[in-house]
Amino acid sequence: MMAGEAIPGPQHELESGADYGQFVSAIPLMVRMARFGATNEAISYRDFHVGASAYAIKFDGSKPPVTLGGANYKPDQQTPKYCAEMDVVDHLEGNDYDQIVGSVVAGTTDPKAIKAVMGRVTPTLHPCHACQDKMAGSRLVTPDTIVITVGLENDVAQIHTFDDLQMIYELEERQGAQVMAPPVDLDLSNWARREQAFDVLMQMSADNDPVSAAQLVLSSTVALDS
Ligand SMILES: [Zn+2]
Repeated sequence: MMAGEAIPGPQHELESGADYGQFVSAIPLMVRMARFGATNEAISYRDFHVGASAYAIKFDGSKPPVTLGGANYKPDQQTPKYCAEMDVVDHLEGNDYDQIVGSVVAGTTDPKAIKAVMGRVTPTLHPCHACQDKMAGSRLVTPDTIVITVGLENDVAQIHTFDDLQMIYELEERQGAQVMAPPVDLDLSNWARREQAFDVLMQMSADNDPVSAAQLVLSSTVALDS
């Protein structure tokens, strides 16, 4: 019997939208958290250090949005791999959040190191197959969840939605052309320009899709006058 449990008011039921402006503002912090995880918390017997972070929301607003970081753990060859992305998803599921609006993965951008682990060369380190399976099975990850893959030691980044990520390799094999998002310089030193650009984009049209606007702002070289 759930005696005494408060029935959520209508204002709570309506608050299901994510604030993408807040998410865009949180990205420099998310990148720092992901890099911190890789540098200070990751354990890898072969020195392959990866960190991740995510921005998650609770639909009814009973908890404020959160930014949470994680790191990979593989102390020896025998231990099954536990990636940074898995760490973050498990923590957020355990803490009862409803949706991951976006995530950051920070790893090497060395093509040889990426090829050795992933079997293919990509400009940044993408979530591996097992991570993508885990994300696909998580109630927190939607096709629109934005995945930012960024260098540990540089601001080279690629911006995909989770839906994009799941399709690009097969498409590239089939078409023999580059389909994945081109690498961009995230240029974290002047983030206000991207926040401004996002606001401008969203104001220009009332029915602007915030996911596409965020993707566009993150993927472009933004040069607004301050
Ligand atoms: Zn993985």
